[in-house]
Amino acid sequence: MRRVVTFHYTLRDPAGQLLDTSAGGAPVTYLEGAGQIIDGLDEQLRPVSAGAKVRVLVPAAKAYGERDPAQVQRIERARLPVDGGLKVGDRFQAGDDRHAPVVLVVAIEGDQVLLDANHPLAGVDLTFEVEVVAARPASAEELRHGHAHGPEGIGHD
Ligand SMILES: [Zn+2]
Repeated sequence: MRRVVTFHYTLRDPAGQLLDTSAGGAPVTYLEGAGQIIDGLDEQLRPVSAGAKVRVLVPAAKAYGERDPAQVQRIERARLPVDGGLKVGDRFQAGDDRHAPVVLVVAIEGDQVLLDANHPLAGVDLTFEVEVVAARPASAEELRHGHAHGPEGIGHD
């Protein structure tokens, strides 16, 4: 049985630094096995019931993947879609498409710029503190659509 699960989370890196949290905002709702949250979290929350608080460690490979050295590339400054100043640590979208990857400026060497297109959390083992707020069986329609419906999910006619 696949469920629709609603949860709050706090995400930390291995040093314990806060990366993200839903505290103070809306909880997250997802359909199990639909790829709506990272795989490792989806898998490890399967046996967790509503009301439970758990700590879930997700290795990088099951979160945002390992770092890929091929995603670090040297580009001519003049070819970048950025006006004005550019400095190490800047992030910008590498293209007009809104799905274009966000790249990080790693180094600037003369008219060449070293860009890293890895996800900022690639190679990072993640620790989630999760509180499952609600869990219910998914409806046949939700399973067909591949997402949750209802007030906490996606609304459509
Ligand atoms: Zn739907």
